[in-house]
Amino acid sequence: MEVKIKKAETIKPVIETDKLGFGQHFTDHMFNMDYNHQKGWHNPRIEPYAPIIADPAMMVFHYAQAVFEGLKAFYSKSGDILLFRPKDNFKRLNDSCRAICIPQVDEEFALKALKQLIEIEKDKVPQADGTALYIRPTIVATDAYLGVKPSDTYRYFVILSPVGAYYAAGFNPIKIWITKNHVRAIKGGIGCYKAAANYAASLYAGKEAAAKGYAQVLWLDGEKRKYIEEVGAMNIFFVIDNQLITPELSGSILPGITRKSVIRLAKEWDIKVSERQISVEELIEAYDAGKLQEAFGSGTAAVISPVGEIGYDDKVLNINNGKVGEMTAKFYKRLTDIQYGRAEGPDGWVEKI
Ligand SMILES: *Cc1c(COP(=O)(O)O)cnc(C)c1O
Repeated sequence: MEVKIKKAETIKPVIETDKLGFGQHFTDHMFNMDYNHQKGWHNPRIEPYAPIIADPAMMVFHYAQAVFEGLKAFYSKSGDILLFRPKDNFKRLNDSCRAICIPQVDEEFALKALKQLIEIEKDKVPQADGTALYIRPTIVATDAYLGVKPSDTYRYFVILSPVGAYYAAGFNPIKIWITKNHVRAIKGGIGCYKAAANYAASLYAGKEAAAKGYAQVLWLDGEKRKYIEEVGAMNIFFVIDNQLITPELSGSILPGITRKSVIRLAKEWDIKVSERQISVEELIEAYDAGKLQEAFGSGTAAVISPVGEIGYDDKVLNINNGKVGEMTAKFYKRLTDIQYGRAEGPDGWVEKI
């Protein structure tokens, strides 16, 4: 398929680095493509960024048949624009599609079209330290129809958002809250896919945690409410007794690409890493025994997010005196060095535009 290109007539001014924030500003162009049963995915086009005119009966509004991805492009010192493991994102996009009956896209074509879009927007990739171009591929159901069934038509679109350094105020540990009252996902459900509905399910608990002064929710498994799953929209890692531990992919945890990358780097560094169930009780016991050394979240937006405090009931676990741990800092540095092209990573992790 040939991508049609229509350039924007007016170009927005470049946003100053300190005003970038996260997910607030969008570039001048977007990628669009439509689906129907007769033509399959068709009419791929890059055109000016614009509102989508939608029928109020459009199925995505009512039944949340929507999936998305999140990845970043980085400006390297040599002037190249680099994508981090983008093939994994498009593969996961199709896994999400399959899970909620959305027709899959051609992964190779989607990546090629993304590269074309970024090429057009290359002047909008921020260059300052710690900044990046956040990429949001999305697919939504577009039939105007009330009634629960898979839509017959869809829109795939990609928008781009120049983002500032996630840690504008420095690489500071966050406080997270373990909720017993709410669950995000359950085995057999869609928690392990980037389906929009999962994020609606996470909002109420997030608000409760915020009211207690916590930045994110640490989710427990939906069945026993005993085993730790993930934190906000990040995967979680603990360093206990010099071992790296992360919950195994249980079917209700999102298989993060950053998570997979951390595990791979740990193996390279001969750090003992285990993917297994870990209960809150075990975490508290390790803490009481003085063996809980570090905790951090992993995800595309923040890359690595150090955790300085975990709240559960009346208990407060103060981790590493609220300071960034050694291993946490080491993973952050190594991953960002690879992403910005300052160091070479394992084969295939970084792709030039
Ligand atoms: C996206 C996401 C992650 C992190 O995945 P990455 O591929 O590392 O960005 C973790 N948990 C949830 C719920 C997510 O949506």
